[in-house]
Amino acid sequence: MIISKKKSHEDLMENFKKYDSFYLIGCSECASLCGTGDEAAMKTLKEELEKEGKTVTGMIVPKTGCQTLGTKIELKKDKDACAAADAIVVMSCGAGTQSGVEIFPDKPVYPSNDTMFLGNMTRFQVFDERCSLCGDCIIDKTGGICPITNCPKGLLNGPCGGMKDGNCEVSSEIKCAWVRIYERQKKVNELDKMNDILPPKDWSKKQNPHAMARPDKDKKEKKA
Ligand code: SF4
Ligand code: SF4
Repeated sequence: MIISKKKSHEDLMENFKKYDSFYLIGCSECASLCGTGDEAAMKTLKEELEKEGKTVTGMIVPKTGCQTLGTKIELKKDKDACAAADAIVVMSCGAGTQSGVEIFPDKPVYPSNDTMFLGNMTRFQVFDERCSLCGDCIIDKTGGICPITNCPKGLLNGPCGGMKDGNCEVSSEIKCAWVRIYERQKKVNELDKMNDILPPKDWSKKQNPHAMARPDKDKKEKKA
């Protein structure tokens, strides 16, 4: 999931100072799990705006904020409230905000959140970064643990000289990623993989912007 956190009140109000009325768009997926785009978060932002003398013309928590077409359809029922707002505030990740920009080409659209990373929720609203979206996954060779993301140096072939008592030299709070990989490989009887040397990453596969269609999608649609 995409992890987001709310911008500070000061930053939000600085962005909003030119406008008097707002329509709020949340997201029922990642941003809801993060507590940054659910109904409670929207109610809190509405109260903050009203305290500053501003108006909220309406709000919606669409199914998936970054699904541009679906969100556009859901917004149809609220078109008057959207039209009445000076600006749109999107309470999701940066991708959801950019759906808002596409849906409202003639209106200012602002994010209420900072988009942090792709991660896992390990306990309620506790998040760990697990994948850096490198475009060339190698965790089939590293016991399912990503050294690019979990090792602050992104080392591909075993620990650096700074590892101490199994912990990372960059932060003693975290276990060395390569100790985790070793322990995992040992547990699943695949320690032999530790002998394989991983080649340097091909970072061209991470080059932005990416665009992708599901390769089998067109074929299936044509057959139907
Ligand atoms: S190797 Fe790349 S795609 Fe795989 S988990 Fe790590 S960053 Fe993500
Ligand atoms: S101690 Fe381990 S996790 Fe930390 S930087 Fe070195 S190899 Fe990476």
